[in-house]
Amino acid sequence: GSPLSTPPVSFALRAATSDAPSESGTFEYQAETSRLMDLIVNSLYSNKDIFLRELVSNASDALDKMRFYSVTDASALGDTPDLEIKIKADPENRTLTITDTGIGMSREQLQENLGTIARSGTAKFSEMLKEQQASGEDSSNLIGRFGVGFYSSFLVADRVTVRTKSNDDGTQWKWESEVGSTSFTINADESDEKLGRGTQITLHLKEDAAVYAEATKLGELLKTYSEFISFPIKLWSSKT
Ligand code: ADP
Ligand code: MG
Repeated sequence: GSPLSTPPVSFALRAATSDAPSESGTFEYQAETSRLMDLIVNSLYSNKDIFLRELVSNASDALDKMRFYSVTDASALGDTPDLEIKIKADPENRTLTITDTGIGMSREQLQENLGTIARSGTAKFSEMLKEQQASGEDSSNLIGRFGVGFYSSFLVADRVTVRTKSNDDGTQWKWESEVGSTSFTINADESDEKLGRGTQITLHLKEDAAVYAEATKLGELLKTYSEFISFPIKLWSSKT
């Protein structure tokens, strides 16, 4: 209802918790989100490659949003004017890092987007996946038609670190979670890795997914997946 019809009791509840805003800490995934993660990890293991397409398309969406804002307010680009995606392969540490200079996420958005809000497409996807598996059909078509999204990271990673900074709150936040976990953490990011603006996703790869820390493999996948991405993608490897 409208703010005027809000009963006093709920106002009191808000006031009681407002001195402890959940700025940092450990948060539980929404039940639906948890179920989706399990479903993805348990049913798409033979289509692991798709995680890269999902992360690159998220980066591209975030860059699109930034480009859109910068049309009306060029100053929004600040000291990070280049709209681009950087992908770093690090075989020694078995990590893969995808960095974009897109819109980034505020703390609130981070908590909502990566944990709380189950997307409308999510339920539909799991429904169709179940139907398709019941009929013994290959799920590759389905994956092509629906975005599986961010959680496909856990197909290849046993730990995922997201660093992000948006103009909205100007703070760099760190989100972290592990495969199979029912919770994630959010903290102000104290690391030396400073983003001007945007999002950096580090995948700590599973032992059997080490190939995704190889620049050659990533190059092949990007050739297939990034054909329609309208921002530069710079791929490099820590190997010298
Ligand atoms: P979808 O892309 O279909 O919305 P995803 O699971 O891929 O679903 O991503 C969930 C949400 O997380 C996105 O809608 C977006 O708000 C946020 N997000 C994911 N990756 C990024 C990113 N690189 N930059 C900014 N926001 C992101
Ligand atoms: Mg997506």
